[in-house]
Amino acid sequence: MIVPGCGQGESDGCAAFRRPASTAFPGDAARLRRWLRRGRVDARSFQRRVARCRLTDCRGMCCYDGAVVSWQTRRVLERLVIKAAEAFRALGLRLPAQSFVRLGWWPLQVHKTATRLHRFSAVIADYPAHFGDSACVFMLDDGRCGLQVLSVDRGLHPWHYKPTVCWMQPIKLATEPGFSVFLPRQDTDPSRHRGYPGYVEATACGCSRPGGEPASRVLDRELRFLGAVTGVPVRSQVGVVGP
Ligand code: SF4
Repeated sequence: MIVPGCGQGESDGCAAFRRPASTAFPGDAARLRRWLRRGRVDARSFQRRVARCRLTDCRGMCCYDGAVVSWQTRRVLERLVIKAAEAFRALGLRLPAQSFVRLGWWPLQVHKTATRLHRFSAVIADYPAHFGDSACVFMLDDGRCGLQVLSVDRGLHPWHYKPTVCWMQPIKLATEPGFSVFLPRQDTDPSRHRGYPGYVEATACGCSRPGGEPASRVLDRELRFLGAVTGVPVRSQVGVVGP
């Protein structure tokens, strides 16, 4: 199972990121808090050099398979889809009757945003062959996340309605004992399996860039938000000091 999402940090105006951190998914934040208390951030993995993606180049490619969400998040967003139907239409989103799908069966079932046809391969040079020509139904045609845009339009923090896995991208939950979250390389990518060479390093925001900067610096916005919604000092765990 791929766990995709999209930082899209530059896409909706930096000023909105100065708004107080808030989330529509307190259950996810509580689970994340418990997970973070299991161990420390894998600070070494955040030394890998990356660069913040630009929507004009990446086009929202990390949204190609939609987002895995908790069932509570699915319920919140399903209600939002009904209540904010007009706002979504005004953004140009044509949401299907079912904006979410369920894969598998209890207790192993997974909830995910639905996807639609979207020809990333026609507009992105070197689009990964193992990524599909599809996109999350919440992605706008220009690659922005409709949930992020709606959050901004409502005067909220841009990631208020954005699923957890999406604003965390490319940071992933660690399963190594003693660690909580980490930045995967291709050989440590949890989504890697036979016939699928991985997700994080294949995305514009997660791939290694020799001329880039340490991820601890590039992903400071994600680390700040993670710390703010969980109350866990993750920035200091990756060695960031100061405000
Ligand atoms: S919810 Fe938004 S960020 Fe997440 S996959 Fe869909 S369009 Fe991308």
